[in-house]
Amino acid sequence: MGQISSDLASENVVCENEIKLELYSTTRKSIMEKLEILTDAAKYDVACTSSGVNRKGNGRDMGNCLAAGICHSFSSDGRCISLLKILMSNECVYDCKYCINRRSNDVPRATFTPEEICELTMNFYKRNYIEGFFLSSGIVNNPNDTMERIYQTLYLLRNVYRFRGYVHVKGIPGADPVLIQQTGYLADRMSVNLELPTAEGLEKLAPNKHRKSILKPMRQIQNGIAQGKQELALYKSAPSFVPAGQSTQMIIGATPESDYQIMSVAESLYDKFALKRVFYSAYVGVNEDKALPAVTTASPLLREHRLYQADWLLRYYSFRVNELLNEKHQNFNILLDPKCDWALRHLEQFPVEINKADYTTLLRVPGIGVKSAQRICKARKSSALGFDNLKKIGVVLKRALYFITCNGKMMYHTKIDEDYITRNLLSEHEKLPFDKDGMTYKQLSLFDDGMENAAMFGMAHEGKGTAYV
Ligand code: SF4
Repeated sequence: MGQISSDLASENVVCENEIKLELYSTTRKSIMEKLEILTDAAKYDVACTSSGVNRKGNGRDMGNCLAAGICHSFSSDGRCISLLKILMSNECVYDCKYCINRRSNDVPRATFTPEEICELTMNFYKRNYIEGFFLSSGIVNNPNDTMERIYQTLYLLRNVYRFRGYVHVKGIPGADPVLIQQTGYLADRMSVNLELPTAEGLEKLAPNKHRKSILKPMRQIQNGIAQGKQELALYKSAPSFVPAGQSTQMIIGATPESDYQIMSVAESLYDKFALKRVFYSAYVGVNEDKALPAVTTASPLLREHRLYQADWLLRYYSFRVNELLNEKHQNFNILLDPKCDWALRHLEQFPVEINKADYTTLLRVPGIGVKSAQRICKARKSSALGFDNLKKIGVVLKRALYFITCNGKMMYHTKIDEDYITRNLLSEHEKLPFDKDGMTYKQLSLFDDGMENAAMFGMAHEGKGTAYV
Protein backbone atom coordinates (compact mmCIF):
# COMPACT_ATOMS: atom_id res chain seq x y z
CA MET A 1 0.00 0.00 0.00
CA GLY A 2 2.83 2.32 1.06
CA GLN A 3 4.71 1.40 -2.12
CA ILE A 4 1.63 2.09 -4.25
CA SER A 5 0.99 5.48 -2.67
CA SER A 6 4.65 6.50 -2.99
CA ASP A 7 4.52 5.34 -6.66
CA LEU A 8 1.42 7.43 -7.18
CA ALA A 9 3.02 10.38 -5.44
CA SER A 10 6.12 10.18 -7.59
CA GLU A 11 3.95 9.71 -10.68
CA ASN A 12 2.08 12.88 -9.72
CA VAL A 13 5.34 14.76 -9.36
CA VAL A 14 6.39 13.52 -12.82
CA CYS A 15 3.00 14.59 -14.19
CA GLU A 16 3.21 18.01 -12.60
CA ASN A 17 6.72 18.44 -13.90
CA GLU A 18 5.54 17.45 -17.35
CA ILE A 19 2.73 19.96 -17.16
CA LYS A 20 5.12 22.66 -15.95
CA LEU A 21 7.52 21.72 -18.73
CA GLU A 22 4.71 21.90 -21.27
CA LEU A 23 3.59 25.31 -19.97
CA TYR A 24 7.18 26.45 -19.89
CA SER A 25 7.79 25.35 -23.45
CA THR A 26 4.57 27.03 -24.55
CA THR A 27 5.48 30.30 -22.92
CA ARG A 28 9.09 30.10 -24.07
CA LYS A 29 8.23 29.67 -27.74
CA SER A 30 9.65 32.46 -29.83
CA ILE A 31 7.33 34.61 -31.90
CA MET A 32 8.61 32.90 -35.04
CA GLU A 33 7.87 29.46 -33.61
CA LYS A 34 4.41 30.57 -32.65
CA LEU A 35 3.94 32.16 -36.06
CA GLU A 36 4.87 28.91 -37.75
CA ILE A 37 2.36 26.95 -35.67
CA LEU A 38 -0.44 29.48 -35.79
CA THR A 39 -0.32 30.44 -39.45
CA ASP A 40 -0.35 26.77 -40.32
CA ALA A 41 -3.21 26.17 -37.90
CA ALA A 42 -5.22 28.97 -39.53
CA LYS A 43 -5.06 27.57 -43.04
CA TYR A 44 -8.37 25.73 -42.91
CA ASP A 45 -10.32 28.90 -42.25
CA VAL A 46 -11.29 30.43 -45.56
CA ALA A 47 -13.83 32.97 -44.37
CA CYS A 48 -11.67 36.00 -44.81
CA THR A 49 -11.65 38.80 -47.23
CA SER A 50 -9.44 41.69 -47.99
CA SER A 51 -11.75 44.34 -49.26
CA GLY A 52 -14.94 46.16 -48.56
CA VAL A 53 -14.01 49.35 -46.81
CA ASN A 54 -12.46 52.66 -47.82
CA ARG A 55 -10.44 54.60 -45.29
CA LYS A 56 -7.77 57.11 -46.12
CA GLY A 57 -4.62 57.57 -44.08
CA ASN A 58 -4.96 60.64 -41.87
CA GLY A 59 -1.29 61.62 -41.80
CA ARG A 60 -1.01 60.83 -38.11
CA ASP A 61 -1.90 57.15 -37.65
CA MET A 62 -0.54 54.12 -39.48
CA GLY A 63 -2.14 52.60 -42.58
CA ASN A 64 -5.16 52.98 -44.75
CA CYS A 65 -7.72 50.78 -46.43
CA LEU A 66 -8.95 50.33 -49.99
CA ALA A 67 -12.36 48.95 -50.82
CA ALA A 68 -11.07 47.74 -54.16
CA GLY A 69 -8.92 45.12 -52.42
CA ILE A 70 -5.30 45.17 -51.44
CA CYS A 71 -2.14 43.79 -53.05
CA HIS A 72 -3.84 40.65 -54.27
CA SER A 73 -1.77 37.84 -55.56
CA PHE A 74 -2.90 34.35 -56.56
CA SER A 75 -1.62 31.20 -55.01
CA SER A 76 -1.23 27.90 -56.81
CA ASP A 77 -4.69 26.79 -55.71
CA GLY A 78 -6.33 29.91 -57.10
CA ARG A 79 -6.58 31.82 -53.87
CA CYS A 80 -6.00 35.50 -53.82
CA ILE A 81 -3.50 36.77 -51.30
CA SER A 82 -3.47 39.96 -49.31
CA LEU A 83 -3.77 39.55 -45.56
CA LEU A 84 -1.72 38.16 -42.77
CA LYS A 85 -3.91 35.34 -41.57
CA ILE A 86 -3.22 33.83 -38.18
CA LEU A 87 -4.81 32.08 -35.27
CA MET A 88 -4.42 33.81 -31.94
CA SER A 89 -4.31 30.39 -30.31
CA ASN A 90 -4.70 26.74 -31.20
CA GLU A 91 -4.87 25.71 -27.53
CA CYS A 92 -8.54 24.93 -27.99
CA VAL A 93 -10.79 23.41 -25.34
CA TYR A 94 -13.37 22.25 -27.92
CA ASP A 95 -13.24 18.97 -29.76
CA CYS A 96 -14.72 19.48 -33.23
CA LYS A 97 -14.21 16.19 -35.02
CA TYR A 98 -13.04 17.70 -38.32
CA CYS A 99 -10.46 20.07 -36.85
CA ILE A 100 -6.70 19.61 -36.65
CA ASN A 101 -6.62 21.82 -33.54
CA ARG A 102 -9.23 19.90 -31.59
CA ARG A 103 -8.47 19.23 -27.93
CA SER A 104 -7.90 15.51 -28.43
CA ASN A 105 -5.21 15.92 -31.12
CA ASP A 106 -1.56 15.83 -30.25
CA VAL A 107 -0.27 18.82 -32.21
CA PRO A 108 2.17 21.60 -31.31
CA ARG A 109 0.28 24.31 -29.42
CA ALA A 110 0.86 28.02 -29.09
CA THR A 111 -0.90 31.21 -28.11
CA PHE A 112 0.02 34.73 -29.12
CA THR A 113 -0.35 37.54 -26.64
CA PRO A 114 -2.19 40.63 -27.92
CA GLU A 115 1.12 42.53 -27.92
CA GLU A 116 2.82 39.88 -30.05
CA ILE A 117 0.05 40.02 -32.64
CA CYS A 118 0.29 43.80 -32.77
CA GLU A 119 4.08 43.67 -33.18
CA LEU A 120 3.79 41.14 -35.97
CA THR A 121 1.11 43.04 -37.80
CA MET A 122 2.98 46.32 -37.59
CA ASN A 123 6.25 44.76 -38.71
CA PHE A 124 4.66 43.06 -41.69
CA TYR A 125 2.74 46.20 -42.49
CA LYS A 126 5.77 48.47 -42.37
CA ARG A 127 7.62 46.10 -44.69
CA ASN A 128 4.70 46.36 -47.08
CA TYR A 129 4.09 42.60 -46.93
CA ILE A 130 0.47 42.98 -45.91
CA GLU A 131 -2.24 45.57 -45.84
CA GLY A 132 -4.38 44.08 -43.18
CA PHE A 133 -4.87 40.99 -41.15
CA PHE A 134 -7.32 38.27 -40.37
CA LEU A 135 -7.49 36.93 -36.82
CA SER A 136 -9.22 33.78 -35.76
CA SER A 137 -8.72 31.58 -32.72
CA GLY A 138 -9.41 28.29 -31.06
CA ILE A 139 -11.37 28.56 -27.83
CA VAL A 140 -8.89 29.47 -25.10
CA ASN A 141 -10.45 28.43 -21.78
CA ASN A 142 -13.94 29.65 -22.75
CA PRO A 143 -15.67 31.89 -25.33
CA ASN A 144 -15.48 35.01 -23.13
CA ASP A 145 -11.76 34.67 -22.50
CA THR A 146 -11.13 34.19 -26.23
CA MET A 147 -13.29 37.12 -27.30
CA GLU A 148 -11.71 39.34 -24.69
CA ARG A 149 -8.21 38.54 -25.99
CA ILE A 150 -9.34 39.34 -29.52
CA TYR A 151 -10.84 42.60 -28.28
CA GLN A 152 -7.65 43.51 -26.39
CA THR A 153 -5.59 42.86 -29.52
CA LEU A 154 -7.75 45.15 -31.60
CA TYR A 155 -7.88 47.79 -28.91
CA LEU A 156 -4.08 47.88 -28.71
CA LEU A 157 -3.67 47.80 -32.46
CA ARG A 158 -6.07 50.67 -33.10
CA ASN A 159 -5.37 52.85 -30.06
CA VAL A 160 -1.75 52.24 -29.09
CA TYR A 161 -0.18 51.20 -32.42
CA ARG A 162 -2.55 53.54 -34.31
CA PHE A 163 -3.12 50.94 -37.05
CA ARG A 164 -5.82 51.89 -39.54
CA GLY A 165 -5.41 49.01 -41.98
CA TYR A 166 -8.04 46.39 -42.68
CA VAL A 167 -8.88 44.02 -39.84
CA HIS A 168 -11.14 40.99 -40.01
CA VAL A 169 -11.78 39.03 -36.82
CA LYS A 170 -13.94 36.18 -35.65
CA GLY A 171 -16.96 36.67 -33.45
CA ILE A 172 -16.88 33.86 -30.92
CA PRO A 173 -20.26 32.15 -30.36
CA GLY A 174 -21.19 32.10 -26.69
CA ALA A 175 -19.16 35.22 -25.84
CA ASP A 176 -20.68 38.11 -23.90
CA PRO A 177 -22.57 40.40 -26.34
CA VAL A 178 -20.80 43.42 -24.80
CA LEU A 179 -17.42 42.03 -25.91
CA ILE A 180 -18.73 41.37 -29.40
CA GLN A 181 -20.17 44.88 -29.54
CA GLN A 182 -16.92 46.51 -28.42
CA THR A 183 -14.91 44.44 -30.89
CA GLY A 184 -17.30 45.42 -33.68
CA TYR A 185 -16.36 49.08 -33.19
CA LEU A 186 -12.71 48.25 -33.85
CA ALA A 187 -12.95 45.67 -36.66
CA ASP A 188 -13.71 46.22 -40.33
CA ARG A 189 -15.26 42.84 -40.81
CA MET A 190 -16.44 40.16 -38.43
CA SER A 191 -17.40 36.61 -39.16
CA VAL A 192 -19.14 33.98 -37.12
CA ASN A 193 -18.68 30.57 -38.68
CA LEU A 194 -21.78 28.48 -39.28
CA GLU A 195 -19.33 25.55 -39.62
CA LEU A 196 -21.79 23.03 -41.09
CA PRO A 197 -24.86 23.62 -43.22
CA THR A 198 -27.36 21.95 -40.87
CA ALA A 199 -27.95 21.84 -37.11
CA GLU A 200 -27.79 18.00 -37.26
CA GLY A 201 -24.38 18.11 -38.91
CA LEU A 202 -23.16 20.53 -36.26
CA GLU A 203 -24.42 18.34 -33.45
CA LYS A 204 -22.71 15.32 -34.96
CA LEU A 205 -19.32 16.85 -35.72
CA ALA A 206 -18.98 19.82 -33.34
CA PRO A 207 -20.55 18.71 -30.05
CA ASN A 208 -19.48 21.89 -28.20
CA LYS A 209 -21.17 24.19 -30.70
CA HIS A 210 -24.85 24.93 -31.12
CA ARG A 211 -26.72 26.48 -33.99
CA LYS A 212 -28.54 28.97 -31.75
CA SER A 213 -25.36 30.26 -30.14
CA ILE A 214 -23.88 30.79 -33.63
CA LEU A 215 -26.90 32.64 -34.98
CA LYS A 216 -27.18 34.90 -31.93
CA PRO A 217 -23.94 36.90 -32.46
CA MET A 218 -24.66 36.89 -36.19
CA ARG A 219 -27.96 38.65 -35.49
CA GLN A 220 -26.29 40.99 -33.03
CA ILE A 221 -23.69 42.01 -35.61
CA GLN A 222 -26.38 42.47 -38.27
CA ASN A 223 -28.36 44.77 -35.93
CA GLY A 224 -25.19 46.61 -34.93
CA ILE A 225 -24.33 47.26 -38.58
CA ALA A 226 -27.82 48.56 -39.34
CA GLN A 227 -27.82 50.79 -36.27
CA GLY A 228 -24.29 52.01 -37.00
CA LYS A 229 -25.39 53.08 -40.50
CA GLN A 230 -28.35 55.01 -39.10
CA GLU A 231 -26.15 56.77 -36.57
CA LEU A 232 -23.59 57.63 -39.23
CA ALA A 233 -26.34 59.16 -41.34
CA LEU A 234 -27.30 61.39 -38.40
CA TYR A 235 -23.88 62.18 -36.95
CA LYS A 236 -20.75 62.25 -39.06
CA SER A 237 -18.56 61.52 -36.05
CA ALA A 238 -20.50 58.39 -34.97
CA PRO A 239 -18.16 55.39 -34.63
CA SER A 240 -18.56 52.86 -37.42
CA PHE A 241 -19.52 49.31 -36.54
CA VAL A 242 -18.16 46.46 -38.72
CA PRO A 243 -18.18 48.75 -41.80
CA ALA A 244 -17.15 45.98 -44.22
CA GLY A 245 -20.01 43.73 -43.11
CA GLN A 246 -20.04 40.20 -41.81
CA SER A 247 -19.36 36.86 -43.42
CA THR A 248 -19.52 33.20 -42.50
CA GLN A 249 -18.08 29.87 -43.54
CA MET A 250 -19.52 26.40 -44.11
CA ILE A 251 -17.54 23.20 -44.48
CA ILE A 252 -18.61 21.27 -47.55
CA GLY A 253 -18.42 17.52 -47.88
CA ALA A 254 -17.94 16.49 -44.23
CA THR A 255 -21.69 15.86 -43.91
CA PRO A 256 -24.05 14.55 -46.59
CA GLU A 257 -26.05 17.72 -47.46
CA SER A 258 -26.81 18.28 -51.15
CA ASP A 259 -25.85 21.44 -53.06
CA TYR A 260 -29.53 22.40 -52.95
CA GLN A 261 -29.54 22.30 -49.13
CA ILE A 262 -26.25 24.19 -48.90
CA MET A 263 -27.31 26.92 -51.31
CA SER A 264 -30.70 27.24 -49.62
CA VAL A 265 -28.93 27.85 -46.30
CA ALA A 266 -26.67 30.42 -47.98
CA GLU A 267 -29.64 32.19 -49.59
CA SER A 268 -31.44 32.34 -46.28
CA LEU A 269 -28.31 33.78 -44.60
CA TYR A 270 -28.11 36.49 -47.25
CA ASP A 271 -31.82 37.25 -46.92
CA LYS A 272 -32.20 37.09 -43.15
CA PHE A 273 -28.79 38.16 -41.83
CA ALA A 274 -27.69 40.48 -44.63
CA LEU A 275 -24.34 38.71 -44.87
CA LYS A 276 -21.70 40.13 -47.17
CA ARG A 277 -20.23 36.75 -48.08
CA VAL A 278 -20.75 33.09 -47.43
CA PHE A 279 -17.55 31.08 -47.82
CA TYR A 280 -17.58 27.40 -48.73
CA SER A 281 -14.65 25.39 -47.53
CA ALA A 282 -14.09 22.01 -49.18
CA TYR A 283 -13.62 19.48 -46.41
CA VAL A 284 -10.02 18.39 -45.92
CA GLY A 285 -9.62 15.11 -44.04
CA VAL A 286 -7.11 15.55 -41.24
CA ASN A 287 -8.56 13.30 -38.50
CA GLU A 288 -9.53 9.65 -38.43
CA ASP A 289 -13.06 9.46 -37.08
CA LYS A 290 -15.96 7.20 -37.94
CA ALA A 291 -18.29 10.21 -38.14
CA LEU A 292 -16.14 11.70 -40.91
CA PRO A 293 -15.35 10.72 -44.51
CA ALA A 294 -12.14 8.67 -44.77
CA VAL A 295 -8.97 10.74 -44.54
CA THR A 296 -8.03 9.57 -48.02
CA THR A 297 -11.24 11.04 -49.50
CA ALA A 298 -10.32 13.73 -52.02
CA SER A 299 -11.22 17.26 -51.00
CA PRO A 300 -14.25 18.29 -53.11
CA LEU A 301 -12.63 21.34 -54.71
CA LEU A 302 -14.61 21.24 -57.93
CA ARG A 303 -17.83 21.10 -55.93
CA GLU A 304 -16.62 24.03 -53.83
CA HIS A 305 -15.91 25.93 -57.07
CA ARG A 306 -19.44 25.29 -58.38
CA LEU A 307 -20.89 26.52 -55.08
CA TYR A 308 -18.89 29.75 -55.34
CA GLN A 309 -20.13 30.22 -58.90
CA ALA A 310 -23.72 29.69 -57.79
CA ASP A 311 -23.20 32.04 -54.86
CA TRP A 312 -22.03 34.66 -57.35
CA LEU A 313 -25.24 34.13 -59.31
CA LEU A 314 -27.31 34.77 -56.18
CA ARG A 315 -25.47 37.92 -55.21
CA TYR A 316 -24.94 39.65 -58.55
CA TYR A 317 -27.14 37.98 -61.16
CA SER A 318 -30.55 38.02 -59.39
CA PHE A 319 -30.87 34.24 -59.45
CA ARG A 320 -32.75 32.41 -56.71
CA VAL A 321 -31.69 28.97 -55.55
CA ASN A 322 -34.96 27.41 -56.72
CA GLU A 323 -34.13 28.39 -60.28
CA LEU A 324 -30.77 26.63 -60.18
CA LEU A 325 -31.64 23.52 -58.17
CA ASN A 326 -34.71 21.82 -56.78
CA GLU A 327 -35.86 18.66 -55.00
CA LYS A 328 -35.38 16.58 -58.16
CA HIS A 329 -32.17 18.24 -59.28
CA GLN A 330 -30.27 18.49 -55.98
CA ASN A 331 -26.67 18.90 -57.12
CA PHE A 332 -24.81 21.06 -59.60
CA ASN A 333 -23.53 19.60 -62.82
CA ILE A 334 -19.85 19.02 -62.19
CA LEU A 335 -19.07 19.37 -65.91
CA LEU A 336 -20.77 22.70 -66.54
CA ASP A 337 -20.88 25.92 -64.56
CA PRO A 338 -24.29 26.62 -62.95
CA LYS A 339 -25.19 29.44 -65.34
CA CYS A 340 -24.56 27.36 -68.48
CA ASP A 341 -26.36 24.47 -66.86
CA TRP A 342 -29.37 26.68 -66.10
CA ALA A 343 -29.39 28.13 -69.65
CA LEU A 344 -29.33 24.65 -71.20
CA ARG A 345 -32.34 23.66 -69.13
CA HIS A 346 -34.18 26.83 -70.21
CA LEU A 347 -33.49 26.97 -73.92
CA GLU A 348 -37.04 28.24 -74.48
CA GLN A 349 -35.79 31.62 -73.15
CA PHE A 350 -33.11 31.89 -75.86
CA PRO A 351 -31.81 33.35 -78.13
CA VAL A 352 -31.78 36.79 -76.54
CA GLU A 353 -31.58 39.85 -78.80
CA ILE A 354 -28.62 41.88 -77.59
CA ASN A 355 -30.00 45.20 -78.81
CA LYS A 356 -33.35 44.83 -77.07
CA ALA A 357 -33.07 42.60 -74.00
CA ASP A 358 -33.19 44.30 -70.61
CA TYR A 359 -30.25 44.27 -68.22
CA THR A 360 -31.52 41.36 -66.09
CA THR A 361 -32.11 39.19 -69.16
CA LEU A 362 -28.63 39.97 -70.50
CA LEU A 363 -27.14 38.90 -67.16
CA ARG A 364 -28.60 35.44 -67.63
CA VAL A 365 -26.76 34.80 -70.89
CA PRO A 366 -23.70 32.53 -70.49
CA GLY A 367 -20.62 34.53 -71.48
CA ILE A 368 -22.09 37.89 -70.38
CA GLY A 369 -20.96 39.19 -67.00
CA VAL A 370 -22.06 42.16 -64.92
CA LYS A 371 -19.61 44.57 -66.53
CA SER A 372 -20.32 43.49 -70.10
CA ALA A 373 -24.09 43.67 -69.50
CA GLN A 374 -23.67 47.22 -68.21
CA ARG A 375 -21.47 48.14 -71.17
CA ILE A 376 -23.96 46.68 -73.65
CA CYS A 377 -26.82 48.73 -72.15
CA LYS A 378 -24.71 51.88 -72.38
CA ALA A 379 -23.19 51.29 -75.82
CA ARG A 380 -26.42 50.36 -77.63
CA LYS A 381 -27.91 53.76 -76.80
CA SER A 382 -25.76 55.31 -79.53
CA SER A 383 -25.91 52.56 -82.15
CA ALA A 384 -27.02 48.97 -82.68
CA LEU A 385 -24.34 46.48 -81.62
CA GLY A 386 -22.84 43.69 -83.71
CA PHE A 387 -20.71 40.69 -82.71
CA ASP A 388 -17.50 42.68 -83.24
CA ASN A 389 -18.68 45.24 -80.71
CA LEU A 390 -19.54 42.50 -78.23
CA LYS A 391 -16.05 41.10 -78.45
CA LYS A 392 -14.57 44.50 -77.66
CA ILE A 393 -17.01 44.94 -74.78
CA GLY A 394 -15.71 41.75 -73.18
CA VAL A 395 -18.45 39.24 -73.94
CA VAL A 396 -17.10 35.68 -74.07
CA LEU A 397 -18.49 34.89 -77.50
CA LYS A 398 -17.44 31.25 -77.63
CA ARG A 399 -19.94 30.67 -74.81
CA ALA A 400 -22.53 33.35 -75.62
CA LEU A 401 -22.88 32.60 -79.34
CA TYR A 402 -25.45 29.82 -78.79
CA PHE A 403 -27.71 32.10 -76.78
CA ILE A 404 -27.78 35.48 -78.53
CA THR A 405 -28.67 37.31 -81.69
CA CYS A 406 -27.44 40.69 -82.88
CA ASN A 407 -29.97 42.53 -85.04
CA GLY A 408 -31.93 39.30 -85.41
CA LYS A 409 -29.00 37.15 -86.57
CA MET A 410 -26.97 34.51 -84.79
CA MET A 411 -23.20 34.62 -85.04
CA TYR A 412 -23.10 31.30 -86.92
CA HIS A 413 -25.78 29.07 -88.19
CA THR A 414 -26.19 26.93 -85.09
CA LYS A 415 -28.74 24.57 -83.64
CA ILE A 416 -30.52 25.51 -80.42
CA ASP A 417 -30.37 22.01 -79.13
CA GLU A 418 -29.36 20.93 -75.62
CA ASP A 419 -27.10 18.02 -76.65
CA TYR A 420 -25.40 19.94 -79.43
CA ILE A 421 -24.68 23.03 -77.29
CA THR A 422 -23.59 20.92 -74.29
CA ARG A 423 -21.03 19.06 -76.43
CA ASN A 424 -19.65 22.31 -77.78
CA LEU A 425 -19.46 23.98 -74.38
CA LEU A 426 -17.72 20.95 -72.88
CA SER A 427 -15.11 20.92 -75.61
CA GLU A 428 -14.25 24.47 -74.63
CA HIS A 429 -12.49 23.40 -71.39
CA GLU A 430 -13.41 25.65 -68.53
CA LYS A 431 -10.50 27.19 -66.66
CA LEU A 432 -10.61 25.83 -63.12
CA PRO A 433 -8.88 27.42 -60.16
CA PHE A 434 -6.79 24.37 -59.27
CA ASP A 435 -4.60 21.72 -60.84
CA LYS A 436 -5.98 19.60 -63.65
CA ASP A 437 -5.67 16.48 -61.56
CA GLY A 438 -8.20 18.40 -59.59
CA MET A 439 -8.54 17.24 -56.10
CA THR A 440 -5.34 18.44 -54.56
CA TYR A 441 -5.40 20.75 -51.61
CA LYS A 442 -2.53 23.05 -51.03
CA GLN A 443 -2.52 25.94 -48.63
CA LEU A 444 0.01 28.71 -48.62
CA SER A 445 2.37 28.93 -45.72
CA LEU A 446 4.76 31.59 -44.57
CA PHE A 447 7.36 28.90 -44.35
CA ASP A 448 7.21 26.71 -47.45
CA ASP A 449 7.24 26.91 -51.22
CA GLY A 450 3.84 28.58 -51.20
CA MET A 451 5.77 31.76 -50.58
CA GLU A 452 7.11 31.76 -54.11
CA ASN A 453 3.60 31.78 -55.43
CA ALA A 454 2.43 34.26 -52.89
CA ALA A 455 5.24 36.57 -53.86
CA MET A 456 4.84 38.05 -50.43
CA PHE A 457 4.05 37.07 -46.91
CA GLY A 458 0.45 36.89 -45.84
CA MET A 459 -2.12 34.67 -47.26
CA ALA A 460 -5.79 35.22 -46.97
CA HIS A 461 -8.02 35.38 -49.99
CA GLU A 462 -11.31 36.28 -51.46
CA GLY A 463 -10.50 35.29 -54.96
CA LYS A 464 -12.87 32.42 -55.38
CA GLY A 465 -15.36 32.73 -58.19
CA THR A 466 -14.74 36.41 -58.55
CA ALA A 467 -14.77 36.63 -62.33
CA TYR A 468 -17.93 34.98 -63.46
CA VAL A 469 -19.36 35.30 -66.92
S1 SF4 B 1 -13.48 25.50 -31.88
FE1 SF4 B 1 -13.51 23.57 -33.04
S2 SF4 B 1 -12.96 24.24 -35.12
FE2 SF4 B 1 -12.33 25.90 -33.73
S3 SF4 B 1 -10.20 25.46 -33.22
FE3 SF4 B 1 -11.46 24.51 -31.63
S4 SF4 B 1 -11.77 22.41 -32.30
FE4 SF4 B 1 -11.07 23.58 -34.05
